[in-house]
Amino acid sequence: MRIARFAAGDEVGFGLVETDTDSGDEYIARLNGHPLLGDIKLTGERAKLTDVRLLSPVLPTKVVCIGKNYADHVAEMQGITGESTEEPVVFLKPSTSVAGPTDPIFHPAVSERVDFEGELAIVISRPCREVPRERAADVIFGYTVANDVTARDLQQKDKQWTRAKGFDSFCPIGPWITTGLSIDEAQDLAVTTTVDGEVRQSGRTSQFIHDIPGMISYVTSFMTLLPGDVLLTGTPAGVGPLRVGQEVAVTVERLGTISNRVVARD
Ligand code: MG
Repeated sequence: MRIARFAAGDEVGFGLVETDTDSGDEYIARLNGHPLLGDIKLTGERAKLTDVRLLSPVLPTKVVCIGKNYADHVAEMQGITGESTEEPVVFLKPSTSVAGPTDPIFHPAVSERVDFEGELAIVISRPCREVPRERAADVIFGYTVANDVTARDLQQKDKQWTRAKGFDSFCPIGPWITTGLSIDEAQDLAVTTTVDGEVRQSGRTSQFIHDIPGMISYVTSFMTLLPGDVLLTGTPAGVGPLRVGQEVAVTVERLGTISNRVVARD
């Protein structure tokens, strides 16, 4: 299933994204209630996908991020964010950094170097702590696409990453949550980032240093994850700067594309 959150007129709701087998058109079928809190029930209402505005598919209490999880990205970050470590590097992005799949990314005037980081994101299904590796699949609701936007100069200057990673709009996610993928399938997907249509990152989740069960097990060893929390899994090599006016798109195979224009923050 593909589960989206959307706005149509004054209303906000969740829906299943469906493709009409005859026309190939995509529709959104409205759901009753919240898909993370109960059964998936359709209301019978349907709209063309092009007639609604997609929002971030969840509103997480926190976005937990794994850093330095692709060896080729660790290599390109030498001297900027330090060496790789045996245990995963974990940091947080505030819930207020989350934006929708086509929302603008606001470039803050205080930074001269705002980078894209295309990533696979995991959406958590239930409250969980101390999840053993072999139970990781039980706490995964589905997968989505994220851009871990980073003010690279502030990341270096501040020594820790809260400001650099935490600006409003620095975590676009979407376009929807895809359920039904096994962990093995999720660990073999292409991750591609383009800027104004030019490919800048091209990796595969099979290149993870820490695998999905390892990430979930490590994070929940010290932090409770709640339904709808989002776990970003790290970015492949090729990170680079974004200028005001550019359009950055992140695609994860089988999951879809988010595409966000960079605008100056007033
Ligand atoms: Mg990242």
